[in-house]
Amino acid sequence: MSFRSVAIIGLGLLGGSTGLAVRQYLPGCATTGWDANPATRARAAERGLVARVCDTAVEAVADADLVILCVPVGAMGDVARLIAPALKADAVISDVGSSKQTVAEALAEALPGMAVVPAHPVAGTERSGPDAGFAALFQKRWCIITPPADADPAKVEALRQFWETLGAKVEVMTPQHHDMVLAVTSHLPHLIAYTIVGTADDLEDVTQSEVIKYSAGGFRDFTRIAASDPTMWRDVFLSNKEAVLSMLQRFTEDLTALQRAIRVGDGQQLFDHFTRTRDIRRSIIEEGQDDARPDFGRSDHSA
Ligand code: NAP
Repeated sequence: MSFRSVAIIGLGLLGGSTGLAVRQYLPGCATTGWDANPATRARAAERGLVARVCDTAVEAVADADLVILCVPVGAMGDVARLIAPALKADAVISDVGSSKQTVAEALAEALPGMAVVPAHPVAGTERSGPDAGFAALFQKRWCIITPPADADPAKVEALRQFWETLGAKVEVMTPQHHDMVLAVTSHLPHLIAYTIVGTADDLEDVTQSEVIKYSAGGFRDFTRIAASDPTMWRDVFLSNKEAVLSMLQRFTEDLTALQRAIRVGDGQQLFDHFTRTRDIRRSIIEEGQDDARPDFGRSDHSA
């Protein structure tokens, strides 16, 4: 089974990139799209993010074999209810949300009897909106599919092939496992970046111009992450609450241990810890998940 018509709801970074990638790598596949924001719909049409931008969500999904929800995770349930009456009976409904357990529950509740196969392409940038998307976003990035236990294997396989055609490497796991792994690899780093940039901004004895001037000392890399979309990240933390709080507890304990090493002058502990973390960075580069260049090669990925 393969998809001949794909509908994308939400035409920002993920929706736009998915539309552009389908148009580039699956040229025989029809693409429709809709976004709640009329200005986004107009810009999406100008950029050709999908072949046909529709005036309503219902119109966008009516002929689709695959519907991909690319809206903030807190909006998934509402959007699913909106499109429910118009879906083809055998359509596959998926999403790109950054947390999976609550999204899977919201979609299953809103779409009883439908083939819901949630997914998360672990690919993104700090940019958002209809100008942010680009076709190569998913190249060599992982896409995690989290099918329910009773999912039709043929539909899961079709979704796997879809993402592989768009350039992604696919892994299948439970939504619970996804949420725990992503809490540590993505959600916690964002929380730390949001905190550290906020703390620097609050410091009264360091001026904002000094923060900007001397940002190359590590702070700059946090500001990139902390520039990520506020709506998206508010929803991620609220929807993956348990796993994030659990990882935050672990992180706080480890931070306290490093704090103690600094206080008592335990240089060996600091050195050993930093040596271990440097190895992780090397492994990430070797896996092709980042770039060793000083700007991480990101200047090559402008939209
Ligand atoms: P985005 O660029 O802000 O795009 C989301 C789009 O959805 C916006 O155009 C937004 O319009 C629209 N929207 C919001 N509520 C809607 C609704 N109820 N119905 C229809 N459209 C609605 O955000 P994004 O980065 O693409 O994120 C979309 C999804 O991808 C999220 O679930 C996120 O967790 C996931 N994701 C993001 C990344 C990343 O790095 N950004 C990576 C992987 C997965 P307005 O702007 O007018 O609200």
